[in-house]
Amino acid sequence: MLSHTSTKEHYETGACIVWCFDARFSGLYDLFAKYIHNPDLIKIAGGANDLTEKGPDAYVLDQIAKSIKLHRPKEILLMMHEECGACDGNTKTSFYESKLAKAKEVVQKNYPGIPTRIFYATFDGIIEK
Ligand SMILES: [Zn+2]
Repeated sequence: MLSHTSTKEHYETGACIVWCFDARFSGLYDLFAKYIHNPDLIKIAGGANDLTEKGPDAYVLDQIAKSIKLHRPKEILLMMHEECGACDGNTKTSFYESKLAKAKEVVQKNYPGIPTRIFYATFDGIIEK
């Protein structure tokens, strides 16, 4: 058995974060989320890409809804990264910028009261778009 004591305290989160499950960006995530209080992390292949392909039917949108219901995030942060395998390794920054803008649009349409920000990660870091 692996022993660990987890808190039973309920909490509110600083942010709901949608991030790609690509482990190469896990170190960047640790830095990115370092000062965010109890982030609700939704970590799936492609990050915010799911929102651009399925719109209102996106799995991610349902997860964001649960974050809002349970932990009332102050903001929603959407990430995609260069050469993402879930996007066929696309290398064009403009491709991801366009996808992120669409993902933001989908989230804002569904949850207009919560600020939504978009971020593009590269192998050198991350920038807000
Ligand atoms: Zn990826």
